[in-house]
Amino acid sequence: MLLFHHMFSLFFFILGTCIGSFVNACVWRVHNGKNWIMGRSMCPECHHYLGILDLIPLVSFFFLRGRCRYCQKKIALEYFGVELVCGILAFLFSLRYLDGMLGAGMEGPLLFLMRDLLALGVLVFIFLYDLKYYLILDKITLPSIVFFFFVNIFLGFSWGDLLLGAAIAGGFFALQFIISRGRWIGGGDIRMGVLMGVMLGWKGTLVALALSYWTGALFGILLIALGKKQLSSAVPFGTFLSAATIMVLLWESRFLELWGQFIAG
Ligand SMILES: [Zn+2]
Repeated sequence: MLLFHHMFSLFFFILGTCIGSFVNACVWRVHNGKNWIMGRSMCPECHHYLGILDLIPLVSFFFLRGRCRYCQKKIALEYFGVELVCGILAFLFSLRYLDGMLGAGMEGPLLFLMRDLLALGVLVFIFLYDLKYYLILDKITLPSIVFFFFVNIFLGFSWGDLLLGAAIAGGFFALQFIISRGRWIGGGDIRMGVLMGVMLGWKGTLVALALSYWTGALFGILLIALGKKQLSSAVPFGTFLSAATIMVLLWESRFLELWGQFIAG
């Protein structure tokens, strides 16, 4: 069983690095108006098409010593970082369902794991795109809202739970949007709130909102203290919302336990 355990985890780590690699390419392709799914990968500097040996997640970066094979320009460390983090996250998601898979039937947990890996891809995309371009794209959030709503219904969530989550987060951002006439947050945040609701249900949504505000405030203070940002700087809030949603997908039960202890005093 231990061998199975290791093989299983390694497989999902590698799968995660591939998801990271794909999301890296998608962010670049979408921003540059290319076909995001069919396009061939190219060096962003010299536009040379990349071969299979240039595209192995994590490995190629080492193999090429962080430089493009064709123009020798440095490959952004960010690509490597995203692949590594996605690998680790997919590994953690797989651990979460491993016990269920070894115990009960395979179907349920495996479907949950597949949902989480798809959510990981979507959320990492939103994380990066908002961080780089200060935009949460409707063409990502709107189809994802429909998709994850129906997937979660299929997995046994009640539609009331999902709609309440969507109403809480979406409504919260819509209210801020109306009060500030779109100055505090953008319309993209409202769609992002709805997506969080249908991904997490109402309890998870509340936890994710709290988490994203705390981490957002923490990073904000840190960056202002380091002199990298001013109080009036734009905040890529979708980045914090995505990160918080991933954390809640991973550790919801633990967060809810903590929350319960906190309320009970
Ligand atoms: Zn190049």
